[in-house]
Amino acid sequence: MESPKPHIALLSSPGLGHLIPILELGKRLLSLHGFHITIFVTTTQASTAQSQLLNSQTVPGKLTIVELPPADISSLVRPDTAIEITICIIVRESIPALQSAILAMTQQPTVLIVDIFGIDAFEIADQFQIPKYVFITSSAIFLALTVYVPTLDGLVVGEYVDLQEPIRVPGCNPIRPDDVVDPMLDRKHERYSVYVDICFRLLMAHGLFLNTWEDLEPITIRALREDIVTFTPPIYPIGPLMRSVGPPIAGRECLDWLDMQRTESVLYVSFGSGGTISAEQLTELATGLELSQQRFIWVVRAPTKKDASATFFTSGNGHDDLSEYFPDGFLTRTREVGLMVPQWAPQVEILSHPSIGGFLSHCGWNSTIESIMNGVPMIAWPLYAEQRMNASILTEDLNVAVRPEILPAKGVVGRKEIERMVRRVMEGEEGNELRGRVRELRSSALKSLNEGGSSYNSLSQVARKWEMSDKNMRS
Ligand code: UDP
Repeated sequence: MESPKPHIALLSSPGLGHLIPILELGKRLLSLHGFHITIFVTTTQASTAQSQLLNSQTVPGKLTIVELPPADISSLVRPDTAIEITICIIVRESIPALQSAILAMTQQPTVLIVDIFGIDAFEIADQFQIPKYVFITSSAIFLALTVYVPTLDGLVVGEYVDLQEPIRVPGCNPIRPDDVVDPMLDRKHERYSVYVDICFRLLMAHGLFLNTWEDLEPITIRALREDIVTFTPPIYPIGPLMRSVGPPIAGRECLDWLDMQRTESVLYVSFGSGGTISAEQLTELATGLELSQQRFIWVVRAPTKKDASATFFTSGNGHDDLSEYFPDGFLTRTREVGLMVPQWAPQVEILSHPSIGGFLSHCGWNSTIESIMNGVPMIAWPLYAEQRMNASILTEDLNVAVRPEILPAKGVVGRKEIERMVRRVMEGEEGNELRGRVRELRSSALKSLNEGGSSYNSLSQVARKWEMSDKNMRS
């Protein structure tokens, strides 16, 4: 008789940028290894995009999804609480519900996988005496900096952003002080100490999965294994995992519009699930797009000055009439060349459409790999979190993107510069070169995911380990 398969529980912290890759990891463990998979989802408020995703036909029926009750965090956060602290609080407040849900299961999980904001749930793994893993849904360089932060904390005096020299994480390419992750921007802020605590506790995991692949970040992956911290848990690059193309529940009209455009003639503009820009920047972007005379699809949200991640918890919600925010006459003048999509668009389906020729992106890691997997060159427009580091990898190490002179998070990028960047990516020799390189990356990504490839083998190695330990426990 065939022995029962391990039961893997995955816990997603709030945010589509976490839920999407966690779902994909669950799907891959199910399809390649036949494991039982339960995905626990934490939230605080209903998001249209999240319910569309969880109800989509691309989620296999065999995969169990448990939406934990929305956490009531009203007395625990202030309007100015940092986004990652809010995420951690939501996860923490969801732990009793997670515990009850696991206790109620007939076959309890044998492994727990969380994302970086779910580390508080390690206590559940310890309680049930099962191994705990972290899926870093970002790049290897992000993880390298993160595991090195406790050391840097002791070495560096003053603010990281004031350093005159790049930050040197052993074995890795230098990191520009301006590119550090948001919690490192102000060491006196509570968010820095929360981050340092996460960095320490990450090392208690039995293994760290990464949504990258050996050939994309070879230097950093080697450094993670050999140079940075002596007792780093085993590193498993298993990516790129991205949502597969499916029948879009909403947004079919974008694809119909794209069907009518020439091959590689449209720029896709989107700032991920949470990104927003200021009113002034929105005007410059609109004018720059118009000046470039290129075709575009733009996922638009109401501008806001104070928070570049304003829609993170409410992806897809919001008003659809955003006409008041555009320059006078812009919508009429660009009617033939531009399509405005309010709030949320079927991104993977758009990026895989042959009419797309470029992506102006906030460089969230999911968006980054979706662009690479579709062979689409980028304009890097980082806003928050670790996006500045991602933008640097794309422009400097991989040469598949152009970026503005100033950091969009620090000032307003002018219309002329936007026009120039759009033309560089969409027209002429430079655009073709960027496109050629991004297609090479796509080939290397596909190779890593296919049977015998590095990411395939990495996941199989852990899967075998889990099967063995399940067998040993039963015998
Ligand atoms: N996304 C989408 N439609 C949108 C905006 C975002 O489908 O209008 C998806 C996108 O394809 C990606 C995820 O949401 O998979 C965003 O993740 P990412 O890491 O790029 O950025 P984050 O939102 O976490 O900052």
